Amino acid sequence: MKLYSTNNKDLRVSFEEAVFNSLPQDKGLYMPVEIPQLDPLFIKNIQQYSLQEIAFTVANALIGDDIPREDLKNIVEDAINFDAPVKFLDSTTAVLELFHGPSYAFKDFGARFMSRVMGYFAKDGDQLLDVLVATSGDTGGAVALGFLGVAGTRVTILYPKGKVSKVQEEQLTTNGQNIRALEVDGTFDDCQALVKQAFNDQELNQQLRLTSANSINIARLIPQTFYYFWAYAQLKSQGINEVVFTVPSGNFGNIGAGLLAYKLGLPVKHFVAGTNVNDVVPRFLQSGSYDPKPSIQTLANAMDVGNPSNWVRIQDLFAHNLDDLRALISSYTYTDEQTKVAMQELYDKYNYIACPHTAIAYMAAEAFKKDFPGEYASVFLSTAHPCKFPDGIEASIFEHVTYPKGATELAEKPKLAHDLKVSYEEFKTYLLDNK
Ligand SMILES: *Cc1c(COP(=O)(O)O)cnc(C)c1O
Repeated sequence: MKLYSTNNKDLRVSFEEAVFNSLPQDKGLYMPVEIPQLDPLFIKNIQQYSLQEIAFTVANALIGDDIPREDLKNIVEDAINFDAPVKFLDSTTAVLELFHGPSYAFKDFGARFMSRVMGYFAKDGDQLLDVLVATSGDTGGAVALGFLGVAGTRVTILYPKGKVSKVQEEQLTTNGQNIRALEVDGTFDDCQALVKQAFNDQELNQQLRLTSANSINIARLIPQTFYYFWAYAQLKSQGINEVVFTVPSGNFGNIGAGLLAYKLGLPVKHFVAGTNVNDVVPRFLQSGSYDPKPSIQTLANAMDVGNPSNWVRIQDLFAHNLDDLRALISSYTYTDEQTKVAMQELYDKYNYIACPHTAIAYMAAEAFKKDFPGEYASVFLSTAHPCKFPDGIEASIFEHVTYPKGATELAEKPKLAHDLKVSYEEFKTYLLDNK
């Protein structure tokens, strides 16, 4: 796979380079020069394959030239070692559950695959790969558990003290091995600023091989296409061929992967993006003008994004043609009050407990069905297990949440975290003293 930058179509970099840089220097995003078409027979018979077989076929079509077949197979099988089941709530509405991985959120797909790809490429180098990541909750857990035990890598996670949920904090701080957690006496923005400064620090970069686990990394996007194919396979095995996917969106990486799957040949009827009041994209689709804004805090906090970093990629995928985008993507926006009502409705009607992000997708799916009725399965994506969001869910519902077995075990492990003030000097000293 060769990649260009959305800011420079003449640029050509290898997959390996794109993985380690995350971003081109011109601050565009990497995009594949060619998007291969999957064999129509594969799509026609897709219900015969397992998730891992499907994942390998898709990955091989994209990066088969960069990683030999057997190695890629091992990476896929090691990374995608949990299911993503489609569960029907009624005859036409289903939820695609993406939270059965180690951090109970869909980011496990991206983080686990990327960590193994980085570990694979890093093998030749003699220097340890130091991954720095700031998190407001979900990303850090997926990256920590994704990189845990991956040879040749070490992860340092900065998280804001007292501002992540219990399960999230336990996922960050109970790992040991090659994972270090820094509990920062500040906000998520402070954490992000410290990490950014480290990447720009020449002296530090001379001593350490720093890399980011950024959500716009191409190695996180690719594995997120897998579950769209797998969902389609599950529907096909039930005789369903028409599907509309609804995706709760923040940075638009998840839905971006769905659109990449579509470009690879997955027959999807329509995509729907559900957002919270951070509605830059819904406004754009309506008006045609893109106006990023400072983010607003909501119950669905993993979607509190004022300037979605993957949107450029989606624009690029459709050659900036607004009519083509509108023909394939719809979007709906919801307030916290509406999100609470939706969580209650899911619980009362289907006995289903959804996290706030998932509830937004549910509402958007229902809205689209009402606006465009038809003979299709409406599948909304559940991006996280409700146990991660005790503050976002009414207590009367939350008390019925069943914790995954692993989450109860985590609670018994000792917390390993290093306290850090919002001080770049202190952060740098920590990194250099603990090489
Ligand atoms: C990250 C995240 C999202 C948003 O996904 P994007 O790819 O940024 O659009 C939605 N829900 C949960 C639970 C998340 O962690």
